[in-house]
Amino acid sequence: MLCDNYGRVITSLRISITKRCNLNCIYCHQEGDDFEPLREISPGTISRTVTAAAGFGVKKVKFSGGEPLMRSDFEDIIAMLPPLKDISATTNGVLLARRATSLASSGLDRVNISLPALDKENYAKLTGSSLAFPRVLEGISAAIDAGLTPIKLNMVLLKGINDERIEDAIHFVSGYEGNVILQLIELMNFKNIAGYMVDIDRIEKLLESKASCIKERQLHRRKKYFIDGVEVELVRPIDNSGFCANCNRLRLTSSGKLKPCLMRNDNLVEIGENATVWEIGEMLKRTVEKREPYYKDKLKQTICRA
Ligand code: SAM
Repeated sequence: MLCDNYGRVITSLRISITKRCNLNCIYCHQEGDDFEPLREISPGTISRTVTAAAGFGVKKVKFSGGEPLMRSDFEDIIAMLPPLKDISATTNGVLLARRATSLASSGLDRVNISLPALDKENYAKLTGSSLAFPRVLEGISAAIDAGLTPIKLNMVLLKGINDERIEDAIHFVSGYEGNVILQLIELMNFKNIAGYMVDIDRIEKLLESKASCIKERQLHRRKKYFIDGVEVELVRPIDNSGFCANCNRLRLTSSGKLKPCLMRNDNLVEIGENATVWEIGEMLKRTVEKREPYYKDKLKQTICRA
């Protein structure tokens, strides 16, 4: 078991497999980029790292980027993994329609698809692409057909873009008949875009007033609201000691470094292409030793041991 000095047991690994992306989202945090020049981790190193992590009880892997579908060997990467409880990817969905079936056949269980706007004009303004919006919608349908469900539709909350359209987003998702969960994500201001920050308390109150049932996940203490047959999950990372106290994730950067926290790049552990599963296991232990909650206030009260 990998347990850090704050009692947090690592159960999932988030792997960025490339920095490359086919969109240019104005708000993107790039998974806390390690600012290494373009160098992409090999399928073998990914497989050995996941094998080592699985040996310590890690059960879930999520692939991210950049855009993971920019890698033509993504299916091979997935196929080389050891058996796990949950293999997922977060994608912008632009290239998903033609690869959903092959990804599912390789062993991908489900996808998160980013959709920051519900109309193509705002989508283009945010992502820099005027053509991508309909392709993302095709990607959602293809992912449902391929069984990559439940899909989480990731909507970063952005003032003036989608904060007044939460009910529209719920209605949009309800059209997918239970195959899609709406995930609303608080904007992390990595790119000096404070003007887009949304009052999350207001969104939380709105969801509370509409929900027939509210649950709490252990991961990050995320709240789930059930509204008109739609599941809505709210991700509130900022200034949230409960979020950090219940973070059970380690990260792997696209250049092959273990990363204890999204918010920091001063404590990375480089794996190296030739490291064995045993050596990576030792590196995982060293990385977990370095884990510290980014927001620590009230940590003791908020650690969830459920
Ligand atoms: N290209 C893929 C995608 O669009 O999903 C994967 C990379 S993206 C960095 C991974 C996730 O981070 C997406 O769900 C996106 O919505 C979220 N994200 C990006 N920038 C963010 C920010 N500044 N604050 C909060 N979430 C962000």
